[in-house]
Amino acid sequence: KAKTSGRNTYKMFDHAISNEIAEKTVLGTYLRSAMVNKEFLLHYQPKIDMVTGRISGLEALIRWNNPQLGMVSPLRFIRLAEEMGLIVSIGYWVLQEACDFAARLYKQYPELRISVNLSSVQLMQTDFVDKVKSIIEQANIPPQMIGLEITESLLMESFTASVGKLDSLKEFGMYIELDDFGTGYSSLSYLKNLPIHAVKIDKSFIDDISETNRHNNITEAIIKLAHMFGLSVVAEGVETQDQARLLTEYCCDTFQGYFASKPLPEEDVKSFLKTYKYILLCRD
Ligand code: C2E
Ligand code: MG
Ligand code: MG
Ligand code: MG
Repeated sequence: KAKTSGRNTYKMFDHAISNEIAEKTVLGTYLRSAMVNKEFLLHYQPKIDMVTGRISGLEALIRWNNPQLGMVSPLRFIRLAEEMGLIVSIGYWVLQEACDFAARLYKQYPELRISVNLSSVQLMQTDFVDKVKSIIEQANIPPQMIGLEITESLLMESFTASVGKLDSLKEFGMYIELDDFGTGYSSLSYLKNLPIHAVKIDKSFIDDISETNRHNNITEAIIKLAHMFGLSVVAEGVETQDQARLLTEYCCDTFQGYFASKPLPEEDVKSFLKTYKYILLCRD
């Protein structure tokens, strides 16, 4: 009996691996031509300033719409794009697209900031800083209008070189945020030496917030600590009014999540910007 189940386990394992390889091969084949076929687009998710209740920025999130595969989540293709060396050109496309949108919004919303997510492979390019600067300059927008979201694991990969590049871009005027904060190596002491403006607390910590453990969650501590280091705090994945209200109590600076809005296509973001008043929650 044991032998049979052992064999079944082996078979399932084998099957899972070959499925994974098959999926990668199929995705990879389509991914290689996705750029020339113009299959990528950006959605934008608003960020809400918790003091004014206003929209302070938008996060650009890539979408891949393939005729054969339909909509493919970035969680399924970003890693693959990194492995295939495609992420560098995809990343510049994302930045270019976000800058073009920023240029169109600038006249009406000069205070708005648009942020893009970065992959470590992009930051490892030796000419990264120059290219980013020239894309922003050619779009004719102030660098303050563009933000970069980086993850901790991204930084750890080649720490000194990455920090140097981010420092230059921060000097240039761009806004730097540490994404998915709390999920990586999180040596809290190195936080104060990073060239960043803000940390984005990962959704997994926000999921933990509730009335029943209002002062018994890690989020409140992270916010206090980040503020001690002079950093602004963004909460990601806020889905309920309760979460937003508690975050206000903890003096969180900004939030993002389905409670305010899902990521939206460009046309919908424009009407959201036009009709949005404010979300203000009492700090009691
Ligand atoms: P991220 O940067 O941490 O983005 C947050 C993710 O959470 C997004 O998923 C967003 O749609 C989702 N989200 C936001 N609010 C809520 C909420 O209230 N509830 C729930 N359940 N989810 C929420 P998405 O768009 O699928 O992106 C996943 C990840 O893919 C991103 O995580 C980012 O790491 C990566 N990614 C997206 N676009 C790009 C890109 O242009 N370049 C790179 N390198 N990575 C990207
Ligand atoms: Mg992000
Ligand atoms: Mg995030
Ligand atoms: Mg996250």
